[in-house]
Amino acid sequence: MEVDMIEFRNVTKQYAHNQALDRLNLTIPSRDFFVLVGPSGSGKTTTLKMLNRLIEPTDGDIYFDDRRLIDYDLKQLRLQMGYVLQNIALFPNLNIQDNIAIQAESLGWPRKRRIERARELLAQVDLDPDQYATRMPSELSGGEQQRVGIIRALAIKPKVVLMDEPFSALDPISRKQLQDLVLRLHQELKMTFVFVTHDMHEALRLGQHIAVMRLGHIQQVGTGEDIIRHPANDFVRGFFQVENAARPDAISDLVLAGYGTATTATTSIDAAATVNELAAALRQGPVVVATPDGNRQLQIKDLLDFLATKEAD
Ligand code: ADP
Ligand code: MG
Repeated sequence: MEVDMIEFRNVTKQYAHNQALDRLNLTIPSRDFFVLVGPSGSGKTTTLKMLNRLIEPTDGDIYFDDRRLIDYDLKQLRLQMGYVLQNIALFPNLNIQDNIAIQAESLGWPRKRRIERARELLAQVDLDPDQYATRMPSELSGGEQQRVGIIRALAIKPKVVLMDEPFSALDPISRKQLQDLVLRLHQELKMTFVFVTHDMHEALRLGQHIAVMRLGHIQQVGTGEDIIRHPANDFVRGFFQVENAARPDAISDLVLAGYGTATTATTSIDAAATVNELAAALRQGPVVVATPDGNRQLQIKDLLDFLATKEAD
């Protein structure tokens, strides 16, 4: 059963000349991969930073495990909220294992335990500890540094991991790899992830639940499938026009790349049709296509994974 972990109740943030959030209501289930998506200026960062109290609401309350955020000791609260920044900001003068363990050090973990934890996390993200633990940040690629930025936020086992556009500065190949990585980490670690992005493809690939924001208001909350099939309004419909972003590949390319599952259902689309036509058809539900090896059923997720791979080409 899903238990609600975080709840925004009528949260408003008023700056001198503009209102960043207007009576926001939002519930985030425990252990969810929850994505906040919307264009620049829609209030995503403001919402995220309220969770570790880097920003305080002007009005309204935020609950975390049924207790108001403002009733927590700030230091205790932040220990439960790992935070991954867009610009990775590793300390340039500390080696990788010391970067990862910096919060553990401030908590007084003994050196042996800190190093063990750092090495365990490096191995978990496929960075060989023997090679990477004692390197300096400048000796890592951007994608590798961002892996370290992510595991640094996990080092002391927070309940929640907050990520603000962590991949937007990366090239498409690294971005795809890191998306796959955070999906795997989320499965393995069973923490709650709250992830901010302005990229709707990224939101659809990652989110179990997605909140679409615009100008300080939530437009819709739901699964990716819900949002694509039943957009709440024209803004959401326009934002999630998968076919606008799609490339001119044919459906047969997608099937050749191994997407879809075998089915005995009758075909509903021609394999020679374009992925744009596929995107339009998927709005109505799964699509079945004939292939030399039999019929295959395609879902929205198949299309998104295919497109992510294509962007990485
Ligand atoms: P997003 O992360 O979706 O791009 P933000 O949460 O950063 O949006 O900002 C939401 C709105 O609040 C924007 O209009 C932004 O200009 C405004 N804003 C953010 N921070 C401040 C600030 N410190 N002072 C005044 N306005 C701000
Ligand atoms: Mg932002």
